[in-house]
Amino acid sequence: MVSSKTILVIPMVVGIILLIVGGIFGVVGYLLFMQAFGNPFLPIQQISQLASSGMSMMMVGSLLAVPGFVCIIAAVLFLIIGYRKKIAKTLAKESAEIAEEIAPMQVRIAKAQAPAVETIAKAQAKGFRKGFEDSDDLDSSSEDSTIRIRCRNCGYLETEDAQFCSKCGKEL
Ligand SMILES: [Zn+2]
Repeated sequence: MVSSKTILVIPMVVGIILLIVGGIFGVVGYLLFMQAFGNPFLPIQQISQLASSGMSMMMVGSLLAVPGFVCIIAAVLFLIIGYRKKIAKTLAKESAEIAEEIAPMQVRIAKAQAPAVETIAKAQAKGFRKGFEDSDDLDSSSEDSTIRIRCRNCGYLETEDAQFCSKCGKEL
């Protein structure tokens, strides 16, 4: 994290120094410029000398202040990016911690649910088995009913293809 801090600090310091020096140059230049035109009794040669030196000092000041501003803006951008990264990192760490805290709870819940799930599964298996058995019964009973006829004399259920009742001997 040392490199990102250096990236942040260097433009900030350089920007502040450039702004201060540029500001001093600007202020001194402005004062010289004003001094040139503030006094009507100054000789014209001195007025032009003061004005030109004031102008050049203000120019130097702005030439220093502009990169100073750029450096400070860059530092602020770095700061914002760094801050956002830090926020993202903190959020990721927090969610990881929450997940770690929740994990044992989820295991406990799963363990607690296991017997209930097993009971449900067993009940379902039982239900399905019963369903299959019932359907088997239905199948067998339907098979029986289709191939048997009732004797008119004694009521015995005889197979369909039989000509005589096997109980009372009457013709079917
Ligand atoms: Zn019969």
